[in-house]
Amino acid sequence: MSDESTPVLDLSALLDTSPPSDPTRRVYTNRNLDMSEIKAIGFDMDYTLVQYHQRPMDELAIRKTLDKLIESHGYPEELRGVALDHDFIIRGLVVDKQTGHICKLDQDRVVGRCYHGYQAVSDEERRALYGTKPISLSSSRFIRVDTLFSLPESTLMAGIIEHYKRQRLPLPKSPGELCIDIRQSIDEAHCDNTLKAEIIADLDRYVIKDPDLAPTLHKLKSAGKKLFLLTNSEHYYTDAVMRFLLDGALPFFESWRDYFDVVIVSGRKPSFFQDPNPFVRLDEAGQALDEPVESFAPRAVYRGGNLQELERLMRLTGDSILYVGDHVYSDILLSKRSAWWRTALVIQELEDGIRNTLAQAAPLSRLQRLDEAARRLDDSINYHLTLTRSLERVQKLMFALTSPETHVIDTTRDKTHREIERKRALLTQTLAEMEALEMEVERTFNTYWGQTFRERHELSLFGDQVESYADIYTSKVSNFLFYSPDQHFRAARSFMPHERENLAPAED
Ligand code: IMP
Ligand code: MG
Repeated sequence: MSDESTPVLDLSALLDTSPPSDPTRRVYTNRNLDMSEIKAIGFDMDYTLVQYHQRPMDELAIRKTLDKLIESHGYPEELRGVALDHDFIIRGLVVDKQTGHICKLDQDRVVGRCYHGYQAVSDEERRALYGTKPISLSSSRFIRVDTLFSLPESTLMAGIIEHYKRQRLPLPKSPGELCIDIRQSIDEAHCDNTLKAEIIADLDRYVIKDPDLAPTLHKLKSAGKKLFLLTNSEHYYTDAVMRFLLDGALPFFESWRDYFDVVIVSGRKPSFFQDPNPFVRLDEAGQALDEPVESFAPRAVYRGGNLQELERLMRLTGDSILYVGDHVYSDILLSKRSAWWRTALVIQELEDGIRNTLAQAAPLSRLQRLDEAARRLDDSINYHLTLTRSLERVQKLMFALTSPETHVIDTTRDKTHREIERKRALLTQTLAEMEALEMEVERTFNTYWGQTFRERHELSLFGDQVESYADIYTSKVSNFLFYSPDQHFRAARSFMPHERENLAPAED
């Protein structure tokens, strides 16, 4: 409603402007976040500030893991040539150590589909194994594919299972042991410097150089935000990678350290958010200095630390801090749960996901309409079934019906029957088209798993976690360059089904 003093805005012009125009570079908002309230922004490093070329990284991690499996765990030499499908694993999946199955869960933690090797597990077997109740992810039986660092081990797990399956040979060890051996080998490769030494030796091959990163950090810093780096990576690795990305990128910031007020390496997340690990100051060479940390010195680098100390030394708490990370559990879920920090999740693969969503816009909106049609047909069939039963009851209860009355009831019932048959045929047709179209669309996202954020009609476990714990999410840190440092990220109004279904289509 409006009167003369409050003229109606022409929204069509306003709704046209949603910067940036490239949807792959937008920041998406789950919960309102007013950046003017944010005093400090913390960044995770790996897969957040630093993005990697995924294929070479996967191949490197797999090669190092295979070396260790063969040399230290007694696996056969032939596995060096194991055929792997590098597109098989997506983030958010769960590995069942007991069976070796890889599963995709929905938002209720119910297993929606699973694969053994590259073969789909039948619905009957899936139901017999996991039922239709939520599975407990806190059980040691399940390993979660939470970050892009976790992709290679599941790729290898599925590939090795498939390798033996194809030859009709038993696995050299049980799926559980295979899983543990792979985990241990990749863990060692991360910790013993073998993997990182190769990355450092050829940074161009592994690290994506983003020309917008330095200007983005500079823009945030110039707006008065305190910037800190909080990474699990060690000093030597952090220094090598950050130097490669930021040193000399802007004329007025010589070193990568100039961008940050505080640098914390070997942060031991998730323990950082839960345990009282002390901060240790490091010298230029990364050696520990034997002095208590009572304040953060400019340009100094610290190791370890914990949430409470960080907040105390920065004189900031909770919702004045935004943490930007890629690990849905140790960066996002824990910083939100333990510290009430505001959270931004970086999802590197979002860029491809958005591109594909745009390419599939027509079939996706057809699917939505088919879904709506199916629900309406169902409602209508139910209405007509109720009507038929009512007519039958009337006939049974009313003994003194005249023949014209019986005739009216009979013809109405026949008509209702025909209507039910017609609508049932239409529903079958609608559901068949939906299923075919859904499969077609899913294949364009991932042949095996479909969309990362969805499991059929529901959100996937990953989609649910993104929605629940990330206040905002985006494909890379430099997307903040397109927004004001004091941007108010506003979430779209959400509706419950009773509101959505009864709303008139939006009008300008
Ligand atoms: P961040 O993401 O910057 O906190 O750093 C992640 C660090 O964890 C990197 O140094 C990785 O090498 C390391 N990392 C990733 N996966 C594993 C693992 O399975 N075991 C040990 N370290 C890992
Ligand atoms: Mg990370």
